[in-house]
Amino acid sequence: MASDISTRNGNGAPQSHPVSTGNGHAGQPHVAANGVAPAAVEGDVCRFCGGTRHRTFVDLGMSPLCESFLSRDQIDRMEPFYPLFAFVCESCFLVQLKEYVTADHIFSDYAYFSSYSDSWVEHTRRYTDAMVERFDLNASSQVVEVASNDGYLLQHFVERGVPALGIEPAANVAAVARDKGIPTRVAFFGRELAAQLVEEGGRADLLVGNNVLAHVPDLNSFVAGLKILLSDTGVLTMEFPHLQRLIDGNQFDTIYHEHFCYFSFRTVRQVFAAHGLTLFDVEELPSHGGSLRVYAAHDDDRSKQVGLRVESLLRREIDAGYERIETYQSFGPQVEQTKRRLLEFLITARAEGKQVVGYGAPGKGNTLLNYCGIRTDFVDYTVDRNPNKHGKYLPGTHIPIYAPERIFETKPDYVLILPWNLQREISEQMKDIRQWGGRFVVPIPELAIV
Ligand SMILES: [Zn+2]
Repeated sequence: MASDISTRNGNGAPQSHPVSTGNGHAGQPHVAANGVAPAAVEGDVCRFCGGTRHRTFVDLGMSPLCESFLSRDQIDRMEPFYPLFAFVCESCFLVQLKEYVTADHIFSDYAYFSSYSDSWVEHTRRYTDAMVERFDLNASSQVVEVASNDGYLLQHFVERGVPALGIEPAANVAAVARDKGIPTRVAFFGRELAAQLVEEGGRADLLVGNNVLAHVPDLNSFVAGLKILLSDTGVLTMEFPHLQRLIDGNQFDTIYHEHFCYFSFRTVRQVFAAHGLTLFDVEELPSHGGSLRVYAAHDDDRSKQVGLRVESLLRREIDAGYERIETYQSFGPQVEQTKRRLLEFLITARAEGKQVVGYGAPGKGNTLLNYCGIRTDFVDYTVDRNPNKHGKYLPGTHIPIYAPERIFETKPDYVLILPWNLQREISEQMKDIRQWGGRFVVPIPELAIV
């Protein structure tokens, strides 16, 4: 890990935002004035274990909700900013954010449609094939996906004749799935909904949740619900970003208000165990900068054996220090260093009269841009394939969003790839920028010009 310990004691300046241009930085109660990670803070309760002692993981200052894209008339109004402060529980090592904004508010009109990423849709096709084969799913099985989005995944099960049900809290996104012929229930998942679904028609032989575990404010209710909905010999798979990859890959921009939890394998295993679920297998995936796919079954399901990969990953995390609080505390200084490097590049490029634009308008881009204080003074505009975002502005930074064709009109010197996890796909789609000498800039894990 490239943590620069020398920055920890800093120069007496506040821990973050040395160059940020005023986001209304009111109140950062958790940050010591000398930049030293403060001692354990009493008060906030761990959303898993109920512990009240925790330490700073990283403080990204104040930021708007990363999916609140603005229309032209909205950019003249006040905009809410919330703390983006992640802490780690001293008892269970769960890295988490307080629920600064209710999930209800965040997800009621979500702009993220999974199907706009080709590689993600392909990822789910491979997943479907693997699950159908490994667990013998057929027309008499029931697949349930929690946070099924626009049906990007369940469409593959439906195509293969496996009955599927989606659960999705955002009504506008669920409507798209229904149009594709995928039964979808508009609701938040938890104990109550699980019990209701069991009463209405049975349990799930395959229960799927991709990139939802991190989004759940009431973690214990959610996992308890999974336990209720899972059939006796059913399999539960969950994919979520792996904390070890977040730290090693310096992926601080994947921290946003919508992500309440950041899991190591050791901690997620502890969470599932507390609810009577055993993780019997785990895979490491490249998606979202490095994710885990865990496989769970009921504790008393004797048809599953715990595979070797479980012990091996557990051992690796413990060896890497994931049961020591210092490991978590080294992340903040590493993030500050990354911010300084990106700003150095942008200041130099603009001083030389170069045009810099963005590619993509993902949530992670908004965390990055707001934390670093990057607005149209550095990045003229960004582009996105999702037509719902065209004509809108990024939250906080007010950078305008256009269709990708715009790049071929203005011929910029640099294209900053905000969804760096899709770097290969994007640089292939946009390779023609080389015709005028354009270069791609990737901000994470280290600034790279390619
Ligand atoms: Zn805890």
